[in-house]
Amino acid sequence: MPDEVAGLTASPAPAVAGGVATSPAPAPAPAAAPAASPAPRQAAAGAAADADEVAARRRVLLAGDAQGNLVKLFTQVANQQKRSGNFNVLLSVGAFLPGMGEGAKEAAAALAQYVSGKEKVPINTYFIESRSAAMLQACPAGKTLCENLHFLGGFGVREIEGLTVAYLSGRYDATVYNSQDAGADGPAFVGTSYTRQAIDGLLQLARKPGAAGIDVLLTAEWPTNIEDKLDEGERPKHPEGLPFDFKEVSSPVIAELCAALEPRYHVFGVADIFYQRAPFQTLKSGHVCRCIGLGKVGSKGKGHMWVHALSLSPAASMTEAARMQRPATTSGCPFIEKPKLVAEDGDGAGLKRSAADMEGGGLGEDTLPPPIPNEVFIGRLPPNIDESRIKKALKHCGTIERIHLAREEGPDGTKPCKGFGWVTFSTPDEAEAACDLNDLLECGKRKLSIQISRPRAGAAPRKKREIQIVIEPHAECWFCLVNPKVEKHMIVCATTEVYVATARGPITPMSVLVLPVKHAPSYAACPPELQEVLSSHVAAIRQMCRKTEKECIVFERWLPFGMSANNHMQIQVIPFELSRAGAARDALEASVKRHLPGAILRRVQSHAEVVDHLNDDSTTPYVYFEIPGDNTARGRQIERYVFAAKEPRIPLNFGRMVACELLNCEDKVDWRQCQEDKDSESKLTRVFREAFKPYQPKAS
Ligand SMILES: [Zn+2]
Repeated sequence: MPDEVAGLTASPAPAVAGGVATSPAPAPAPAAAPAASPAPRQAAAGAAADADEVAARRRVLLAGDAQGNLVKLFTQVANQQKRSGNFNVLLSVGAFLPGMGEGAKEAAAALAQYVSGKEKVPINTYFIESRSAAMLQACPAGKTLCENLHFLGGFGVREIEGLTVAYLSGRYDATVYNSQDAGADGPAFVGTSYTRQAIDGLLQLARKPGAAGIDVLLTAEWPTNIEDKLDEGERPKHPEGLPFDFKEVSSPVIAELCAALEPRYHVFGVADIFYQRAPFQTLKSGHVCRCIGLGKVGSKGKGHMWVHALSLSPAASMTEAARMQRPATTSGCPFIEKPKLVAEDGDGAGLKRSAADMEGGGLGEDTLPPPIPNEVFIGRLPPNIDESRIKKALKHCGTIERIHLAREEGPDGTKPCKGFGWVTFSTPDEAEAACDLNDLLECGKRKLSIQISRPRAGAAPRKKREIQIVIEPHAECWFCLVNPKVEKHMIVCATTEVYVATARGPITPMSVLVLPVKHAPSYAACPPELQEVLSSHVAAIRQMCRKTEKECIVFERWLPFGMSANNHMQIQVIPFELSRAGAARDALEASVKRHLPGAILRRVQSHAEVVDHLNDDSTTPYVYFEIPGDNTARGRQIERYVFAAKEPRIPLNFGRMVACELLNCEDKVDWRQCQEDKDSESKLTRVFREAFKPYQPKAS
């Protein structure tokens, strides 16, 4: 029911404690607001979304290594279903098929009973296989053995009962793994050992355009470093106190895979130990990931439990608030790049690529810039934070060399924090110490997120003073300022970084564009310094509007065109009469319903937050709006919204559609319909330039 979910929803939600089977908290109740606000609609949309989510919830059983012990496994499952009702699916990890040793004959005979149909498999069962090279070689793409019994295959991503499940069969062998170069042609498996090709293939599938987020990742082995970021008491140990060698059952490649895929659940076996790790917060998406290790089928004792029940919803059916719930026990991500991993493992060959490399380089995508090890990125800061409070909170971690909080000039001349900033320490160890405070420091009722700083993909390293954006000026680009194609008579003003130009086919006479001087595809791809300069120009134009009884609607859209010459970002600012300000939200909502049906616009606090909604994929199209909101004692609020997704497709003129809806001039949606002649354009530019002079930000 896309109509009921369409519209504007608030985000993000506060962190709420919640376990595996707890129901998600409802969307946060909207604050008291005047009748004109969309509060009732918001609540209705929230309730509808929750109902959808409940309907979509799946009851899932997880099982550890069956090793051919199918009678035991399926008897247990049948009993469980008798006790607590039917489950939708059974997912099995580790070694599923009978092996060679003791009892192998009986196990093979039992399997034959199921495969021949003499015995019935009581639940739809999907398994990976870590031990049978024959199965992996014969059925790399998977095989249904009989009704309800499916081998998933070597690696892949499949939708099972509405859940998106990524899986990898086989085990890690450093020699095999490192014998193949990334990108080279080669087999995905050698014997039962997966190769780079299997991992690359899996990542590619998971990152296909339009691919859903991974709900569950199934692997045989544990991820190396799973104990990281945990207190001693929370770490996995042998239930009977025996020595427990992680290396035997863990794989550094699985840790990288888990870090790269960011599943909501990662399930593994092999160790014959039942273990539920405290959830950790994923680095890119921010939701939590829960790791679950399972015992071997038939083992006795709680510490070896081999069947585990979950109730979970496909991420796609959940509200953002539900998806982003973080229990109080949430830890930092244990799978952050560890340069010393190889030496510690002592296996010589080791890993050649970090998780970050694997995410980018191995797939021929843009390589992520390396982290800045002595700098932390702090998120969820309140607007009124100042540098001294940050210093006070973090000084015991080490020597602070620099604190930089992102700020944006408000309409009233104050410069509130945009919600994030960076702190540079004198050493990486000190920065690590600060990261240990992630989610622990509270400030203005928010728990601060603290992570090692990593410049955004596609952005120039933040520390370089000179801005190096993406590519050289395009001879074919209409907006690269050095380009002779630029319509010079439309330029209002320019600094070395940013310029303002009047708009072609203006919807209102004072419509302008704010653009970077150099070629950059989107605001999200610009380095923070440039973003700040762009936004300060927008703020200045808004200030000018307000001094002349006007308001403005601001938008930016990023639609990746095949021709990069066409991708020069621009923020459009369309001033209009103050009397229409109260209708802006309705106009936006109506336009979404009509031209972007099914889309949910997310409320954000700043333009820079757009990047958080791109799923770490810089090709995700988006449209961003700033519209006048409620009129309060502190002046008229600015509401900021983003819609970022490949579907539904954002119409090329969507921003203009919203403005025209608001101003009742739908004939102006196509700019060609209202293009002025050159003289008029020059005149409009001169008028704007004069009016703007008192507000124009000084070049830095
Ligand atoms: Zn350009």
